[in-house]
Amino acid sequence: MNPTTPEEALKKVFGFPAFREPQEQIIDCVMHGRDVLVVMPTGSGKSLCYQIPAMLRPGTGVVVSPLIALMDDQVVGLRQLGVRAAALHSGLEGDESRTVWQELLGQELDLLYVSPEGLLAQGFLDQLEAVGVNLFAIDEAHCVSMWGHDFRPEYLGLAVLRERFPGIPRLALTATADPPTRREILEKLHLNGARSFLTSFDRPNIRYRVYPKQNPHQQLLRLLRREHAGESGIVYRFSRKKVEATATMLQDEGFRALPYHAGLSSEVRRKAQRSFVTDEIEIIVATVAFGMGIDKPDVRFVVHLDPPKSLESYYQETGRAGRDGLPATAAMFYGLQDIALLGQLLRSNDSSDERRRIEHFKLNSLLGFCETTRCRRQVLLSYFGEDRAAGSDNCGNCDTCLEPVESWDGTREAQMVLSAVYRTGERFGQGHVIDVLLGTTTSKVTSWNHDQLSTFGVGRDLDRRTWQSVIRQLVAAGILTIDIDGYGGLRLGADAKKILRGETQIDFRRDPLAAKKPAKKPSKKKTAAALESPGDQELFETLRALRLKLARAQGVPPYVVFSDRTLIEMAAMRPRTRAEFETVHGVGAAKLERYAEVFLGVIARYAE
Ligand code: ADP
Ligand code: ZN
Repeated sequence: MNPTTPEEALKKVFGFPAFREPQEQIIDCVMHGRDVLVVMPTGSGKSLCYQIPAMLRPGTGVVVSPLIALMDDQVVGLRQLGVRAAALHSGLEGDESRTVWQELLGQELDLLYVSPEGLLAQGFLDQLEAVGVNLFAIDEAHCVSMWGHDFRPEYLGLAVLRERFPGIPRLALTATADPPTRREILEKLHLNGARSFLTSFDRPNIRYRVYPKQNPHQQLLRLLRREHAGESGIVYRFSRKKVEATATMLQDEGFRALPYHAGLSSEVRRKAQRSFVTDEIEIIVATVAFGMGIDKPDVRFVVHLDPPKSLESYYQETGRAGRDGLPATAAMFYGLQDIALLGQLLRSNDSSDERRRIEHFKLNSLLGFCETTRCRRQVLLSYFGEDRAAGSDNCGNCDTCLEPVESWDGTREAQMVLSAVYRTGERFGQGHVIDVLLGTTTSKVTSWNHDQLSTFGVGRDLDRRTWQSVIRQLVAAGILTIDIDGYGGLRLGADAKKILRGETQIDFRRDPLAAKKPAKKPSKKKTAAALESPGDQELFETLRALRLKLARAQGVPPYVVFSDRTLIEMAAMRPRTRAEFETVHGVGAAKLERYAEVFLGVIARYAE
């Protein structure tokens, strides 16, 4: 099938009815030979912006990508669509790479994926010149930036493309939001003159939720069983040891879960990643080592059982949920100890004052996000410099919007905490301060004579959890600070005096857990919930099983056969003929040929 217009390619090859903003303009620029910078969030459909022009323009489109796993998944997906795509990388067997070379030199490829080192290897660009390149797409372009978080020195060499291939359009694509990185991309890749396309970084289908950490494993199990049974997700933990513990716990509880961290061999890690992508397991429990190179579109939840390092990391890591646009959960569980620990880790890298100031700022922003009484999405986006228009304050899809936060006047309680901190010498952590407030005679309390203080036992009316919540919020507001240069003790911060003197009042949010609301009725899986009748849901599960079987037989991830969205539509619509089947979202010409019969057969049998 040879489409002649972008529109036709979209419909016939991809099976999608319409472009998303601003795919069509980007494609139009590239078709006219212009360079572009595309900064759009994960899941917004950046790939189409180079895939379609590469198919339409004479010659081969070259895609530079940093990871082999990413390239392979893209190629497999494109081949399912009948697009002539291949990848050249060090992971190929000798004859595999010979085949790709033959196809390339025979001008039989629409798209070729290579690593930056591969592209710049001796003689490779000469070969490409002979073949005829129709565009260069530089994926994950933020890797060129030293400011960003994934700097790859090899990316710097890509600047030569401008001189070596004048007139061949280049696209730099990234999901990284901050302006310094964007400037660096333009500069380092010699993209002066490129047209920039920026869209909002909002991920509306992700529901953000933050909980105080009590018993993390129980909290995780409850979340998974109530809302995400059988669905794919990632659980992030801080350390290798915690990763192992949580993975083992999940396995013991009957979940198909595997650990992933830098202490495992690359073979074990590769296998875990593969099992996740091909739906052999449901859950990956990982340190931050996991994520880059995960294109899996149907990740339904990302749970931070320990807090992330910063809001940047948080956005990145939660961004791996819901690439397909269907509802997804981002849940974080955190306690003050975690924040103190993060602070101490920052301290242990001996860093300059400037660096340390930035790190404090990042930590405080994270804390502010956790303790906010405002819409979480709004706080997150404004951190990236994106302020939503007035009037659209409430996203309606985060915990504070869905269950408006109750607040209470805690001026007296704040005074109690501040006075306990002050009288114990501004050197103890929250555990000890709470012991003093509650009047608990631990050996530490008695050895410091803290049972003699006037604040000893003044806080007996509240429980430990509530005191923890109060202290977290005081830290988030900067009224208390954590001494991360010492041993993590609490100190009085700015405005503490005003509160002690009673000059300002302070309201606290009531923790959802402390309030212990009765659970909502247990909901079924998020995905199937899009379907109305139980019959449709059952059919969806049947189609899902069929998809898994077909994918296994071909050794490809299930989502490249059909996306969840496609299966949902199929289950609701129940097509009976090929013509009806073709109208389903995500069914293009190649998939019609390959899968119509078997899916129509199963649907017909189910209908009977
Ligand atoms: P990104 O690279 O920006 O993270 P992808 O290119 O992987 O995003 O696209 C995310 C998902 O959206 C994919 O499943 C893709 O098939 C789908 N998609 C892209 N463009 C469209 C469109 N115009 N209509 C429907 N689905 C689309
Ligand atoms: Zn909100």
